[in-house]
Formats: sequence, C-alpha cells, structure tokens
Amino acid sequence: MTNLPDFAHIKLTGRPLIICDIDEVVLEFVTPLGRFLVSEGYNLIPRSFALTGNIISNATGEAATEQDVKSLLDRFFTAQEAWQVPAPNAVSTLAALSRDADLVFLTAMPARHAAVRRVLLDRHDLIYPLLATEGPKGAVIKALRESMPVPCAFIDDIARNLLSVREHVPECLLINLMVNDDFRAMAPAPGPGIYRAANWDDVAALVSAHLFGKSEKWP
Ligand SMILES: [Mg+2]
Repeated sequence: MTNLPDFAHIKLTGRPLIICDIDEVVLEFVTPLGRFLVSEGYNLIPRSFALTGNIISNATGEAATEQDVKSLLDRFFTAQEAWQVPAPNAVSTLAALSRDADLVFLTAMPARHAAVRRVLLDRHDLIYPLLATEGPKGAVIKALRESMPVPCAFIDDIARNLLSVREHVPECLLINLMVNDDFRAMAPAPGPGIYRAANWDDVAALVSAHLFGKSEKWP
C-alpha cells in the first residue's frame, strides 16, 4: 500500500494539469550540489549517470560510500536555501503556463525537508502547491486526478519516475528534462513515448502543443 501525501491544499480547477518534479527540473540540483560537496571536502566527478561512486573525498581519494552520500544529500537538502536556484527560464515559463493550467510540484524527498523547500520556492515566486513523496510518483498523480481526470503533463529528470507515471496514468504527456548539461549528456534514453527536453523552452513548446493545441513557438 502506497503512502500518499496529503492533497488537502491542492485545488484543481478543471484546467489541464502540469506536474513538475523539482530537483534538476525547476531548481538546479547537480550544479549546486557540486559546490556544496566542495565545501564539505568532496568533488563530484561527472563520469557516469550516478552520484554514488562519483563523489570523491579529497582526504582519501576514495568514492564516498552509499551511506556517506545519503548523509551528504540530507545535509544538502537541509541547507538547500543557501545553494539551490531556479533553472534558467523555469520561473517565467511556469508563470506563463499557469495562466492556462493548474500546476503542482511533486518532489521526491523526505517530508521533513518540505517546509524549507516551500520557503525557497516562494522566494522565487514559484508559488504552486508542493507534494513531497518517497513513494512511486505514478500512484500519487493517479490519485491526484482521480476526481478530475483532466489532460496532464509530467516533467521529471529520472526515467524511473516517468515510467511510474506511464504505468499509472498512460494518457499523461511525459517529458524528460535534466538541466545539468554534463549529466543530461550521460542520461540513458528514457524509453518510448517519453519526450526529451534540453531546457524550459523545449518544455513550453511540448506542453503547449499537447495540452493547448498550439504548435507554434510558445508563448
Ligand atoms: Mg529530480
């Protein structure tokens, strides 16, 4: 049984629904994480599409263990306000899309970090409702639109999350966006039926064509 987050603060209006992941989609993640790691005595070396194995301790020259990576990520999310910034054009594109669609953020992080994330998002006028889950994202989106099955689009950097949504909500437009150039170049193909975007201009064009029937460059 999946633990679903509380949807009480989300009021869908019946317009198309756009659900966005946060890290590496709306907020930069890999780039500021790299800077944070330097401040902690590590270096993130982009040599494969993974964090574990690529975070190298300056003191020992060894890769941080899975447990160390977990602990570093937890410290990074605790301090995210000092490090993370919006991805280029994310704020303006979401503001434009929000005129014709409902927006919901769906972030894969422990709920204990959600309050800090909320403050950080609000500071950048990213005022859309936030859901934090550690469970499969497809089940969350299926439950969210259960009472209002409007056309929807989902944007995420991780293939696992896109495949989860494809399984639970097959009619949803799926877009793979990873804003960090080095890691996007190494990312595996996300699979059939999943569009790849290199930036928020690509996302705007795909979403507007699918949800609003606008084929020209948008807005
Ligand atoms: Mg992400």
